[in-house]
Amino acid sequence: MSRGPPRNPSVNKKTTVVSTTTSTNAVASTTSNATTPRTTNPASSYKGASNWVGAATSNKSPIRLNHSLPSPSTSSSSSPSPTEGVKKGIPGCVGLTNLGNSCYMNCIIQCLAHAEPLTNYILGNDQRTNTLKGQGSFAKDLNKTNPLGSGGKVAEAYASLLSKIWSGQHACIKPLHFKFTIATFANQFNNTHQHDAQELAAFLIDGVHEDLNRIHSQNRKDRVGVGDGNSTSNSINSIHAMDDKSLALKTWQQHLTRNDSIIVDHFQGMLQTTLTCPQCNKISKKFDIFSSLLLTLIGPTDGRPIPIESCLEHFTRQEQLDDHNAWHCTNCKQRVRAIKQVQLWSVPDILIIHLKRFTFQSLSRKGGICQMKIENEVDFPVDHLDLQSHIIGPTDPNAPPAYKLFGVVEHTGQTADSGHYKTTVRNAKDHRFYKCNDSQIGGATDNFKGSEAYVLFYKRKKGLSRWAGLERIIQHGYHASNDQVDDDGFTMVVGKVKK
Ligand SMILES: [Zn+2]
Repeated sequence: MSRGPPRNPSVNKKTTVVSTTTSTNAVASTTSNATTPRTTNPASSYKGASNWVGAATSNKSPIRLNHSLPSPSTSSSSSPSPTEGVKKGIPGCVGLTNLGNSCYMNCIIQCLAHAEPLTNYILGNDQRTNTLKGQGSFAKDLNKTNPLGSGGKVAEAYASLLSKIWSGQHACIKPLHFKFTIATFANQFNNTHQHDAQELAAFLIDGVHEDLNRIHSQNRKDRVGVGDGNSTSNSINSIHAMDDKSLALKTWQQHLTRNDSIIVDHFQGMLQTTLTCPQCNKISKKFDIFSSLLLTLIGPTDGRPIPIESCLEHFTRQEQLDDHNAWHCTNCKQRVRAIKQVQLWSVPDILIIHLKRFTFQSLSRKGGICQMKIENEVDFPVDHLDLQSHIIGPTDPNAPPAYKLFGVVEHTGQTADSGHYKTTVRNAKDHRFYKCNDSQIGGATDNFKGSEAYVLFYKRKKGLSRWAGLERIIQHGYHASNDQVDDDGFTMVVGKVKK
């Protein structure tokens, strides 16, 4: 195996598997800067926050929910003609009042509102997702006892907002109750400061996931096996080989023992991380769940746009770990600068791409930290993002990994928590693009200003593929075996090169 040049000096390979939080860690781990006190990594601030976990049992929330669940009839079946422009009555095209630097939140609401599998499920008007085997409905799945959730309040607040957005009855909505609910369970948003839009997205998606988790805590199985580092590191003989697919499925099945929601169904995929010992060529692999891809911006330095394709190639490149991140090879029985590669194993129906525009640099003399923004234009496809060549797991011909864009969060300003956010969304009903700037909303073209694009929302063009396609494979029969992992969460596999 060829050795890639050392690139990222700060790779955190000590991640665990089988949770939504670790998924984002896994993505961030390939790119995050170890010197940063605060990263743009989605996992940095949401689930781990004690106020979030404790909030479910807190009595401080004065929230009253007067909203009934949206009925299927709230979504009009007839789209107004494009010549009508944007005024009261176009379902899904609604301005959102700025409640004091809340444009970061408005943008995420605007994009997520057009993520059809989630919206249709919450509004109860999707026969297809609601009849897929094992899936319930919003009302049935609402989990008010999940200690990791908000007692259902975040999901209910989001559902209430969605029903208004899609009612066709509003030109502009003041998302006060929603903002208040978010702030109640995530203290970092309890102010009128600007925030990083993707952090809000990560919080909201995770909050909705926990509130709609079909796994109730009393039924949760203890977390076992992969990722716990519960094996002894020196017992190479006890680690027997396992093929990629078995390990992938085992990881996903363990994930499902604790996480089963509409978010898991359509927003999560899996990454494969491979470590190769440069001395003995021993290959170890592990899998991590992800719900957004954090892409480092790599490309032309001469001012030409950065093709998203080169960012994807960079994401899946081989890199050699440095001395600080050396990996303990159980074969060589010493720490080695392993070759690491992260690859896409499976991709979800809703694919969120977070462009890593913000980086941190330490000011060595004074010990301060400086946030830098990469303002290069990024070139990304609107109607056809084909990931087939990047995926190493099995793909479904009925739901191929080809995507179309339905939302772009655009940022102007120097740091993620300053400046201004706007968004452009493709209406899930009339398929036209609309520009959203808080309360203002108007027609747009698909000619994006790629220098402002920050978070991209893609949806699968054809078909739905629950569990990023793994449902199909699991249904065809699979039985987990008891393989052991090393201290870093890696499992030895049969060394082979995928196609
Ligand atoms: Zn070795």
